[in-house]
Amino acid sequence: MPRRTFRAFVELEGMYRNIVEQLVLHAVNNGITKFTRLKAERYRDVRSLYPQLPSHYAYTACQDAAERAHSFLKLKRMGRARKPYPEVRNVSIWLDDHLWRAEGLTLISLATHKGRVRVSFELNKHYLRYVNRGWRLASEARVKLDYKERRLVLYLTFKKEVSEYRPKAYITVDVNEDAEAVLIDGVVYLFETNLSRVTLGYYYRRKSVQEKYDRVYGPGSRPARRVLRRLGSNEKALKREIRWKLATLIVREAARRQAAIVLERLGREPANHMIERIKDPQLRHRVFQAAFKGVQRAIEEKAREYGVPVIYVDPRNTSRTCPIHGAEIVYGRNRHGTCSKGGETWHRDVVACYNLLLRALGGDGGHAPSRMRAFVAVDGGPVPLGPTAAHEPTPIARGAWARWRSLGATSDRKLMRVST
Ligand SMILES: [Zn+2]
Repeated sequence: MPRRTFRAFVELEGMYRNIVEQLVLHAVNNGITKFTRLKAERYRDVRSLYPQLPSHYAYTACQDAAERAHSFLKLKRMGRARKPYPEVRNVSIWLDDHLWRAEGLTLISLATHKGRVRVSFELNKHYLRYVNRGWRLASEARVKLDYKERRLVLYLTFKKEVSEYRPKAYITVDVNEDAEAVLIDGVVYLFETNLSRVTLGYYYRRKSVQEKYDRVYGPGSRPARRVLRRLGSNEKALKREIRWKLATLIVREAARRQAAIVLERLGREPANHMIERIKDPQLRHRVFQAAFKGVQRAIEEKAREYGVPVIYVDPRNTSRTCPIHGAEIVYGRNRHGTCSKGGETWHRDVVACYNLLLRALGGDGGHAPSRMRAFVAVDGGPVPLGPTAAHEPTPIARGAWARWRSLGATSDRKLMRVST
């Protein structure tokens, strides 16, 4: 924006910051964490401090300060506050419906100490996605100054009326380092992600680049840093794309069936046995983040956008017990095992998916009709759905699913193989 207009916002931010600093100090000194009390005690003083400022900034600053005081006092109680008072470092100006309004899709008007200022703004893809999905703008917003680009960054809140989502079915997702097994309508699809391979591949490439440049230019040289930075951002972008595409595919299928998504509850430590073989702790952490946490976070975020609930279940031993007989499965090589009671063969990921489903059904009283229930009930023979039917996942390469918008794109041949 023009220099002059931007300067007005710099002044506004300065005043707002001052108010928030004073309010936080008062709140922390008096143990106030509620906006209403802070406003009752301090509103008059704040108003007289900057009479030229629109009065609603006093309200929003009280809300802002009360929230900061609240989280600081909580940290302090837990003994995790490092300083006696909270520092007001990052400031974004809180706005309410009196302080800003949108005028069409390209202009907003903001109340400042210099009167109303109209600012043109750019919509991003994210904004349009939410609007298209029936979300409406809420009255609260925050604005942050970007000094480098001389622009404002506007943080908007969306709201939506939702009816209670009673899941009619469950889609369970078992995340592995290089694939995600997803149980949809009684079929386990194995979506390849190759996430750990991507992480390891880039790790070794970086290592060799570093060694090469260090030999020529000495350690930590500028060209080496540049190349490494580029490799790093390529890696990030590729992983993000893989995660988002798959999350979108899964969540869309869930929304279409009014299903809930069942995920493993992951601990904080990358204790997962699947990556124990990676010795370097930093690398292990990265593989864990990419393959497990990252995938889950993408699914959570997408699910929120579509209003699909996510259920977490205990992941312990999910691939060790037979979902039909409850007996131990003895695994040989290549992820196949035999049930020690029924003698049927299982693929590890299929077992995990069905056990996640069973746990989800056990957890909520199970108002969802389930295929699993049906085939647990007919537990007469050793093999529930024919020789290999439900025991074999349908693998789908990344190159294939990455182009899909829905599962309907699956070729008939593949569906035939699992249903015979
Ligand atoms: Zn069994």
